Amino acid sequence: MSTKKKLEFGGVPGNLLLVLVLPVVVAFLHFSVKYNDARLFAYDGADWEGFFRALVPTWEAAAIYLGWFALQALLQAFAPGPIVQGTPLPNGKHLLYKMNGRASLVATAIVVGALHFSGVLPIRVLHDRFGELLTVMVIFSYAFSVFLYFYGKATDDRSTGIAIHDFWMGTGHNPRIPPHGLFDLKFFCEARPGLPFWVLLDLACMHAQYETYGFVSLSMVLVCAFQLLYVVDYFWNEPAILTTMDIKHENFGFMLCFGDLVWVPMTYSLQAFYLVDRVHDLPLWAGLLFVALNLLGLYIFRAVNLQKHRFRQSPETATIWGKKAEYLETKQGGKLLVSGFWGWSRHFNYVGDILMAVSWSLPTLFGSIVPYFYPIYFTALLVHRERRDHRICAEKYGEDWEAYCKRVPYRILPGVY
Ligand code: NDP
Repeated sequence: MSTKKKLEFGGVPGNLLLVLVLPVVVAFLHFSVKYNDARLFAYDGADWEGFFRALVPTWEAAAIYLGWFALQALLQAFAPGPIVQGTPLPNGKHLLYKMNGRASLVATAIVVGALHFSGVLPIRVLHDRFGELLTVMVIFSYAFSVFLYFYGKATDDRSTGIAIHDFWMGTGHNPRIPPHGLFDLKFFCEARPGLPFWVLLDLACMHAQYETYGFVSLSMVLVCAFQLLYVVDYFWNEPAILTTMDIKHENFGFMLCFGDLVWVPMTYSLQAFYLVDRVHDLPLWAGLLFVALNLLGLYIFRAVNLQKHRFRQSPETATIWGKKAEYLETKQGGKLLVSGFWGWSRHFNYVGDILMAVSWSLPTLFGSIVPYFYPIYFTALLVHRERRDHRICAEKYGEDWEAYCKRVPYRILPGVY
């Protein structure tokens, strides 16, 4: 690669900063919710000592996390599920993926339920030991990313030669174990250890609230139910991940590794953490409104993503809203869908994501901005992500992408942006 090409995410200084700062952001958000009365910028009365003590890693936390990771890896390798073909690679070949997310989720629920109800490992432990677990997971994700850096170079090299950038973005596109086997590390990490762990953290918070107050608030039920639904939906439609930007265009490095393994479970559970000690009366009408918003967001998110996924699987026979899918043929060989939601805007799926994100925070009401971290950060991420995807597609499809953008002029929100 030409080093003249602009490096993404702020080049070397930006990449280095993100590698160092992202774990601190996760820890700081947790500090804010649990040790600083959900304040971001005022620190009188903050329990710094308790916070730093909680972060000290322990062997128990390491055993819990490594056991969890190993369980998920074993399920990915051995649980039953269909083998599905990925979209064509630049060399025209297809990789195979084992879609056993549903069976893995059920097996995980059985194992976790057995550990909890037998008293061997009550779920609340995840809430009480959050700090130690976080430190362990951060260390693990750094170590794993170092492995990915060298393994990617050895087996599937797409590095630029700029070490910190390669560490951040990854050196391999589809690192697999063994190198040409079925266990795809990027596909596995996209969901397996992180998404169910996030649900367990939510449940641990719910349990902690129940043990403290003797009941679970409606807000807590809604947040946990919405997020559980999102995760179940992911595994229900698991093959749809194969046509996303992460699988198709990204290498597998610290960015995705840390994002999937640490950032997602440890920051997306912030609302549930916030609610543990904040029990407020949520009127039923408000609860119903949030349910409606969540379902609308989930519907948009899933329907838009499935339209593209089904089109990519069989462009000639796919139908959308009862009609044959319309598309633009490109010189590169690929086809770009222009009917259904994909005729409304180029990323209408992101609208669904944002509506869902807002609905996950509204049940916390308005006492602090911290539980709104997810919708705020995520909206910014999606705007940036759309621009990155635009650049990648413009490079891939050339003037056909320009023609597509003329035909579908809005980026995310039809008529607005
Ligand atoms: P998309 O699913 O929109 O995938 C983008 C890719 O789709 C492009 O690179 C291109 O790849 C292909 N594409 C673009 N336009 C068309 C078209 N008109 N017809 C056919 N193919 C097209 O985006 P993302 O991968 O960003 O996101 C997938 C979902 O995951 C989104 O809903 C997103 O919000 C969500 N997500 C959630 C995250 C979270 O933390 N909660 C994080 C990241 C994503 P090609 O042409 O090469 O096939």
